[in-house]
Amino acid sequence: MPTERTPLEMNLMETTEHYRRLAEDMPFYVVAFQPDGTLTFANDLIASLVGMSTKQLIGRNFFEFLSTDDQKLVRERLALLSPEQPVETHQQSNLTANGERTYHQWTNRAFFDAAGNLASVQAIGEDITERKRAEEELRLMQFSIDHSPDAVYRMTPDGRFLYVNKMACQILGYSAEELLTMSVADIDPNQPFGVSPEVVQATKKTKTARVESEHKTKDGRIIPVDILVSYVEYEGKEYHCAFVRDISGRKHIEDELQNTHSNLVAAQKLAQIGSWEWDIRSNLANWSDETYRIFGIGKNKLREHRENFLDMILPEDRNLVDKALSEALDGTNDYDIVYRVKLADGTFKVIHALAEVVRDTQGKPLLMRGTVQDVTQGKLAEERIEKLSHFDQLTGLPNRTLLNDHFKFALGLAQRSGESLAVMFLDLDHFKDINDTLGHSIGDQLLMAVAKRLKSALREEDTLSRQGGDEFVLILPGTDADGAALVAAKVIEVVSEPCHIEQHELIVTPSIGIAIYPHDGESLELLSKNADTAMYRAKDDGRNNFRFFTPEMQAKSSRNLKLANALRHALARNELFLHYQPQLSIQDGHIVGAEALLRWQHPELGMVSPAEFIPIAEDTGQIVQIGEWVLRTAAKQLKDWLDSGMRPITIAVNLSAVQFRQQGLTELVVQILNEIELPHKYLELELTEAAMMDNPLDAIDVMTRLHEQGIRISIDDFGTGYSSLSYLKQFKVYKLKIDQSFVRDITDDNEDKAIVTAIINMATSLGMQTIAEGVETAGQLAFLRLQGCSEVQGYYFSKPLPLDQFEAFVRNSNSAPPAI
Ligand code: C2E
Ligand code: MG
Ligand code: MG
Repeated sequence: MPTERTPLEMNLMETTEHYRRLAEDMPFYVVAFQPDGTLTFANDLIASLVGMSTKQLIGRNFFEFLSTDDQKLVRERLALLSPEQPVETHQQSNLTANGERTYHQWTNRAFFDAAGNLASVQAIGEDITERKRAEEELRLMQFSIDHSPDAVYRMTPDGRFLYVNKMACQILGYSAEELLTMSVADIDPNQPFGVSPEVVQATKKTKTARVESEHKTKDGRIIPVDILVSYVEYEGKEYHCAFVRDISGRKHIEDELQNTHSNLVAAQKLAQIGSWEWDIRSNLANWSDETYRIFGIGKNKLREHRENFLDMILPEDRNLVDKALSEALDGTNDYDIVYRVKLADGTFKVIHALAEVVRDTQGKPLLMRGTVQDVTQGKLAEERIEKLSHFDQLTGLPNRTLLNDHFKFALGLAQRSGESLAVMFLDLDHFKDINDTLGHSIGDQLLMAVAKRLKSALREEDTLSRQGGDEFVLILPGTDADGAALVAAKVIEVVSEPCHIEQHELIVTPSIGIAIYPHDGESLELLSKNADTAMYRAKDDGRNNFRFFTPEMQAKSSRNLKLANALRHALARNELFLHYQPQLSIQDGHIVGAEALLRWQHPELGMVSPAEFIPIAEDTGQIVQIGEWVLRTAAKQLKDWLDSGMRPITIAVNLSAVQFRQQGLTELVVQILNEIELPHKYLELELTEAAMMDNPLDAIDVMTRLHEQGIRISIDDFGTGYSSLSYLKQFKVYKLKIDQSFVRDITDDNEDKAIVTAIINMATSLGMQTIAEGVETAGQLAFLRLQGCSEVQGYYFSKPLPLDQFEAFVRNSNSAPPAI
């Protein structure tokens, strides 16, 4: 019998059905089961999941569809439920048969009976695999963004930070919390009002924009940044996302490059350096503006062809450029040259060019590039500076600096050769008066004239320098006291000649001080100081003269000067005459010759020795004239003797080295002999070893010519010089005159004995005659005879005699030959 259902029951049933339907249709898995797991309800979705119908599922055990792990999990979760806490939610993950992971979320609701025991459970499950994946994806994304090497911000359009990543904090130095209370304006001085309208505009259009800006860090540093901004619209809201990169490093390099480049350009411009490039294959050149300016031609005028440029080079310098070019291309030399170019206006410029060659991998030159610089001014300035620093501006003479250089050089020479060196200090007397009364311009002109005259009095190797004012310093290499005295005398003479400047006739005299290296000092400082002291002495002694620093030199030089002056008139005043000293044959004691020896009788100075005045005559050059007179007088005398019937003898005439060096000596001698009509064989020329060895090849030449003329030559003072035996053979020498210094001690000094013996033996073997001079004793004579010496001369027989006495001596000896 059908049971009648109450309305309440009916209502309840409807409600139950309603929920069942709802559960059926829900996109969730819905099951209900009893505490032991017996299923009382399952919807379609879960039935399809396990591949059964809902009906088949009712009565089956819910747990048998779960994995052991899930069974354990569900039981644990259910155990947590109580009448007070009847609902729980948990997630389960499962691996499907094909290895994919699925995620489900379950919500269990427990129902309890009145006694509080678990009566049934309703479970609703949802497949959350998709959501889980999206979440995972998002988390990964977030992780990437959080750890991005770029700073990442998300901002509101007005620039407030909504999100900042770790790098943003790191770059800016703020914590994320701090940044999230700030806005772009706080960190970007360029965008004080948030994201700039331009950026907003740009990003709205293109969705992204790239800008460079600067960000200010918490500690106040400004860092350059590169920003990629994107515009995002999400759920009706606008955002800006920015990826920001710190480009300080790159910026730094860029700035450096930029700086270097601009510096280079600026420096080149400043230094007026032009640059150029020449493409070798096309033969086209590329010039910078500065290069065009340097070469003085309009841009493009050149049409960039190198030939046109080469045409500009001065013809004299073309070879140089060609050579440098080919060497640079060969790689044998750097291209670094200075050449001149001719400009359109006819002037020229001095160019300094530097270049490098760019080659391909095979080393073949592709192009040349380099720089050019106008160094005309530099060269001129260099020359000018050189002149300024080394030469006196007024006279053009070397100044103190150059003098120092010259002195060092001369000193080096003197040290090596053992020669002396003279330093002179010259000051003009009363020059100040001229300056004061006639003005500086006249004074300057006078100084220039004096400088010119001084120069004319000096040799090429001498140095004349102006020390300022009216002071001059002279360096005379290879000059001893005697030489210096002569130069000083000559200088005084030329300087004191009247000088015509404008309408004035001026006479200015010098006072000179002399110091001699090494006697008076070995440095320029000391020598010029001593020369200066000597110069003041010259001033004290009445000016217009010279003084030596040392008294002995002064005394000697005073006499020398006196002699030199007196000697000038000696010939004209008949103060010179000859003495004759007989030369005897050692065999029979006959007079075989006479040596003519010069004598000078001065009215005040008295008899002056040839040993004293001959060197002076040689220094002043007067020896040439005097020597000629001696030769002529002696030859004439012999001619007279011969003509008067005297037994024939030879006449020996001393020849100075200065005479020997004179051009045309042979001609002169021959001419004199012919004039006098004296046969050549009667003349014997006495020459010292030094005179011959000074220039042996020339000596051989001269002696050969004399020999060809039948004129005999003997070597005077033999043994005191350094004759080379090999030359001796070539010299056409008739006789060796053994020097008196060997003869002097010949009786007791074994060494002298040996020397004299050797000389005689050598002469004999070379076919030469020997004569010993300075024979004073019988002992000396005996030794010489024993050794086989041919002739003798000396006080033992006779002193050099005046003409009449000599004639008497000859007469006497003819009647009674001397005891020989
Ligand atoms: P010397 O040609 O070697 O002349 C020899 C020197 O020795 C002479 O000195 C002579 O007087 C000296 N004399 C000769 N016999 C003796 C002796 O037994 N004992 C000593 N102690 N001395 C003796 P003197 O005349 O004073 O001439 C000196 C030098 O002057 C000569 O040396 C010669 O080099 C040079 N001389 C003289 N006359 C001339 C000349 O006309 N022309 C040139 N160039 N030089 C000349
Ligand atoms: Mg002699
Ligand atoms: Mg001699």
